[in-house]
Amino acid sequence: MKLLKRLSEAHGVPGHEDRVREILRRELEKVCDEVFVDRLGNLIARKGEGGRKVMLDAHMDEIGLMVKHIDKNGFIRFTTLGGFFDQTLLNQRVVVHTHRGEVPGVIGSKPPHLMKEEERKKVVKVESMFIDVGAGDAGEVEKLGVRVGDYITFDRSFTRLAGKLVTGKAFDDRVGCYAMVEVMRRLDVDAEVYAVATVQEEVGLKGARTAAYKVYPDLAIVLEVTTTGDYPGVREEESATKLNAGPAITLVDAKGRGLITHPSVKELLISTAEEEKIPYQLEVGEGGTTDATTIHLTKEGVLAGVVSVPTRYIHSPVEVASTGDIEQTIELVRRAIERWAGG
Ligand SMILES: [Zn+2]
Repeated sequence: MKLLKRLSEAHGVPGHEDRVREILRRELEKVCDEVFVDRLGNLIARKGEGGRKVMLDAHMDEIGLMVKHIDKNGFIRFTTLGGFFDQTLLNQRVVVHTHRGEVPGVIGSKPPHLMKEEERKKVVKVESMFIDVGAGDAGEVEKLGVRVGDYITFDRSFTRLAGKLVTGKAFDDRVGCYAMVEVMRRLDVDAEVYAVATVQEEVGLKGARTAAYKVYPDLAIVLEVTTTGDYPGVREEESATKLNAGPAITLVDAKGRGLITHPSVKELLISTAEEEKIPYQLEVGEGGTTDATTIHLTKEGVLAGVVSVPTRYIHSPVEVASTGDIEQTIELVRRAIERWAGG
């Protein structure tokens, strides 16, 4: 889990994935035959040659913030990069990444003591939030190196919870990145297998588009995280996925507007799980999409599937996943590729 901790704690919003890329590059160089970076910043690693082509995909970027304006009193106004639920931002500790290094800050808000009854009932919108870095005015903020356009991430370390559970930031999709490295390490097949760590997924599945065009695989498997319904406030019919019940195999996402998994890929993943006795869950999603949405529409089309690690509190700094599910996800994907390439 040391690698997962490093990946989770590394900072990289869309378009600024370099630190995550360096960690992955070092790991993949140990187990792959060729590793390169494309123009957009996708990391592409190849293992094996000849035969059919498989592409694994996991995105490197995490949702984050960006400095939009520094007001005269030294408070930083920001915009969001990726889908946030505004309330998860309130009163978080953050890091502003400047050309002079990291500047710590907090997302401030009015304390309840000063709020009127009516005000307390309202949701605080992201537009009214600000970052306090401790400076007295705009000049002091600038002296710290902060500029408009600097990116901002959550300041949150990785830690273990009870049992097999772990928590941290950016599990979406560093858990997928971690699993992808492990699959490449363990894989032993007569095929050309590419591990692609993509950029800018959270802002429009961008990196996957150019990477899939370059690789143009016969089969693509996206490693992701997915929401669960195993905690208070979510009804089973809203989300039946659970932690510690194995990887989730996507059948459909975004009501079919994202991906409708090709029957042959669905069959490959399910029969692999059953024959290898790996527990799995089936997912019919109505909300988000993944890189597979872009990948399967490349050139003349690519067979694609998504295997996800069930994760609680996605897109918050306290995402929770199970190391058991992560391990089973790695094994399911590895075995599926071995069967597909061998058959
Ligand atoms: Zn994701």
